[in-house]
Amino acid sequence: MREAIPSRLIEKKRVGEELEPEELRSFFLGFLQGDVPDYQMAALLMAVHFQGLTPGELECLLDLMIHSGEVLNLEDIPAPKVDKHSTGGVGDKTSLVLAPLAAELGACVPMISGRGLGHTAGTLDKLEAIPGFRTQLSLPEFRWVLEEVGAAMIGQTEEIAPLDRRLYALRDATSTVPSLPLISASIMSKKLAEGLQGLVLDVKTGEGAFLPDLESSLALARTMVELGEGRGVRTSALITSMDVPLGRAVGNGLETREALDCLAGNGPEDLADLSASLTGEMLFLGGLAANLEAGVARAREALDRGAGLERMRKLVEHQGGDPSVVEDPSRIPAAPEVQVLEASAPGFVTGISPVSLGYGVVELGGGRRRIGDPVDLRVGFVLRVRPGDRLEEGDPIGEVHAADASGLRLGMERLGTAVRLGEEAPPPGAPLIGERVVASG
Ligand code: URA
Repeated sequence: MREAIPSRLIEKKRVGEELEPEELRSFFLGFLQGDVPDYQMAALLMAVHFQGLTPGELECLLDLMIHSGEVLNLEDIPAPKVDKHSTGGVGDKTSLVLAPLAAELGACVPMISGRGLGHTAGTLDKLEAIPGFRTQLSLPEFRWVLEEVGAAMIGQTEEIAPLDRRLYALRDATSTVPSLPLISASIMSKKLAEGLQGLVLDVKTGEGAFLPDLESSLALARTMVELGEGRGVRTSALITSMDVPLGRAVGNGLETREALDCLAGNGPEDLADLSASLTGEMLFLGGLAANLEAGVARAREALDRGAGLERMRKLVEHQGGDPSVVEDPSRIPAAPEVQVLEASAPGFVTGISPVSLGYGVVELGGGRRRIGDPVDLRVGFVLRVRPGDRLEEGDPIGEVHAADASGLRLGMERLGTAVRLGEEAPPPGAPLIGERVVASG
């Protein structure tokens, strides 16, 4: 076939026509090889954002993304290979809790994660808050850590799902993240390259989710469950609320500290609940629990007694990090400036905007505005309130952690806008864990 003209393919998608498999192949692989420049890929992503992809196009893109690198074969590791991935939320640090916990309970967790995206932070940035921690391992190193520890946590590499790595960074910089087919292909390409038996998806819904309305969240969950099951991986999804940040810490290093506290059995209740539920799903999908309830109960009991902590120490050590932070999370580098925001009048906390806090972290330097920007892993917010709390004048609302005085001023302003106060108690919010989505039929 004669080589397709990129601008013609952008136009085709822009007006809503379907791209042929060969056209998708030439565009996306051309991008990976450097023949299609970033600006043309950005334009195509925007066209996909508005026009979507047909089921055939999505299957084709997913295959291209999976096979842009290697598909792991971990058959020589006897433990069931299971993993979890989230569609992205604010304060969502469950991966750091559940990977060591599931490994402690008999699973093998070959986790490939992403960096911060839009207003959400990424697992890789959080892990890198641990001094020395390496998220870019070679495949033999990844395999070695898995064999020794039972869990390993890395980023997309040139070897695994490299096309997602390139697209992910470009989508982040061009506001083309909130697209059902692009999120589905991104998540499932990484996960299906891991050689898994079971996968649980944490599909966020609500204000802080990339697709905020429940209907879109359900559609995203169903699409990804079908894609996983269609490729022989037992896949389920939990729809979980992202109307407020998960836990209390928002910002990479602060979230890592909170995840370590949670692993020690001292986490905030919402984080512990969701981590245990997702771990329970992993145990069930991997055949390590007779039923879902038994899996969740086992995970919860283990989490409460700090059973995953030693496994986390081992994981950190094997990935080059300073293992002493696991016992003493205060060794994670901290921001030099910290200030507490106090209520200026009595009232109720009526809401906490995850998007405002997430972008607040980016503005403080804790996220990327452009591909490759350095990230200050120390900055962010620690909430001291939840919706429904009654405050008196002067009560603490939350902490701002900043690099300097101007960051502190900005952070105080952003925190003040994100935490909404009112005279009346708000109605109860949506439950944290909603519907469970499994394959139909
Ligand atoms: N997480 C991913 O890995 N990719 C997305 O597109 C969104 C969340």
